[in-house]
Amino acid sequence: MPNDPSDNQLKNYKATYPKPQVITTSNGAPIYTKTAVLTAGRRGPMLMQDVVYMDEMAHFDRERIPERVVHAKGAGAHGYFEVTYDISKYCKADIFNKIGKQTPLLIRFSTVGGESGSADTARDPRGFAIKFYTEEGNWDLVGNNTPIFFIRDPIHFPNFIHTQKRNPQTHLKDVNAMFDFWLHRPEALHQVMFLFSDRGLPDGYRHMNGYGSHTFKMVNKEGKPVYCKFHFKPTQGVKNLTVEQAGRLASEDPDYSIRDLFNAIEKGDFPVWKMFIQVMTFEQAEKWEFNPFDVTKVWPHGDYPLIEVGKMVLNRNPRNYFAEVEQSAFCPAHIVPGIEFSPDKMLQGRVFSYTDTHFHRLGPNYIQLPVNCPYRSRAHNTQRDGSMAYDNQQHAPNYFPNSFNYGKTRSDVKDTVFQTVGDVDRYETGDDHNYEQPRQFWEKVLDTGARERMCQNFAGALGGCHDFIVSGMLDHFTKVHPDFGARVKAIIQSQTRSHI
Ligand code: NDP
Repeated sequence: MPNDPSDNQLKNYKATYPKPQVITTSNGAPIYTKTAVLTAGRRGPMLMQDVVYMDEMAHFDRERIPERVVHAKGAGAHGYFEVTYDISKYCKADIFNKIGKQTPLLIRFSTVGGESGSADTARDPRGFAIKFYTEEGNWDLVGNNTPIFFIRDPIHFPNFIHTQKRNPQTHLKDVNAMFDFWLHRPEALHQVMFLFSDRGLPDGYRHMNGYGSHTFKMVNKEGKPVYCKFHFKPTQGVKNLTVEQAGRLASEDPDYSIRDLFNAIEKGDFPVWKMFIQVMTFEQAEKWEFNPFDVTKVWPHGDYPLIEVGKMVLNRNPRNYFAEVEQSAFCPAHIVPGIEFSPDKMLQGRVFSYTDTHFHRLGPNYIQLPVNCPYRSRAHNTQRDGSMAYDNQQHAPNYFPNSFNYGKTRSDVKDTVFQTVGDVDRYETGDDHNYEQPRQFWEKVLDTGARERMCQNFAGALGGCHDFIVSGMLDHFTKVHPDFGARVKAIIQSQTRSHI
């Protein structure tokens, strides 16, 4: 007997709507029959004028929209953010302006590299994208379950992702391409180590941390800025799958994480995360030994402690997956007064590319869709037309400035003024302290068992790579820590012997 809420979705629908409504064509006309096409005679050919069939079939042919190039497989939920601590000395954003204030939100979790039908339990980072529907516009915090990323310069992004997707000839995932890229770009080591450690296989979406990952700027009412990072920690605890569990689930229940989230929320077991910030003053940023805008690095907790801000509660499943999750579109460019960008190059690159991809995937008016629109503040601008313009701001003037009372600006939301100096150039950052924080991770964070499991995972994956890639990666591991390189090498050698 099916027992989970997800098994009973159809039955529950029936209970809500005990009587069926008349079925119609897309133009709302009632239909006489939906079980037979229109033909000339019982055995005769179909007629072009079978608009019931044509109407449905032509729409069906267009049901799929382009898949996201990355983060194609995901699950979403609605909920709210509640302020529990006052951080107004750092940030004037409306969302944080009162203890107890609640702001509705949508979150979309995802895997990254796989297609929309791929298994949820793959070793892969997880997307952790939140849309806060604030009274001063939508704020999208488009992060991952890791505080860092593989690259620090966005020029690498398309190439890096190509190595995570399919080989252009074989159409297979290509472990040589993956490690070859990491071999050339050792700034990825930190994130790659996270990925091959226990947390590379989170147990569903409810038991993992979330991070805004980039460095942002917060500005208070006096206009004073600080740099900040965002962290989310699950009240239900961090839990990971073993390699064996993940492998088994990939075949037995490839939708494991989606199912787990849906059922938990449906049963009233609402997932909760506490939100924290880390704060770095501009003076501290000047003096820090590393580049604070480098997304391959964390800010050590000892120096930049976590400051609790509030909690995020997920308490409502989408009623329609396509409308509320597949068509949801997050963009790091969507900020609100009080939150600003830092010079983090990856953030700057993403500020462009997310809207660009939404224009391709959903069209120029994607932000008018109910799930994406800033429904608590409403957009008032002079953007008009394009495909699927919904109300198109009706009869309002479409230019600014104007003499007809359309639109006024607000002096209190001026961006902070900041100085920028330096020669315009393409600055190669390939050697920018690639090993120190991975070493911290090895020495301080991983215990003996976790190190061994990570080494086993690396050895297993590198087992499919060419020798020069293996030896290059072992050199990188050795630079992180001699024990790390030696241990992976020993496991690979023992694997090779056992094959002979
Ligand atoms: P701390 O000793 O204060 O904290 C260690 C951090 O590591 C915790 O946030 C912990 O998360 C997280 N962690 C534990 N296991 C894993 C894993 N397998 N994969 C990813 N993260 C894990 O660390 P410091 O701030 O002094 O930094 C030391 C090193 O810790 C860094 O070089 C970095 O590699 C790692 N780290 C640091 C983070 C930061 O923001 N400072 C965040 C994540 C990792 P939790 O508390 O949820 O258990």
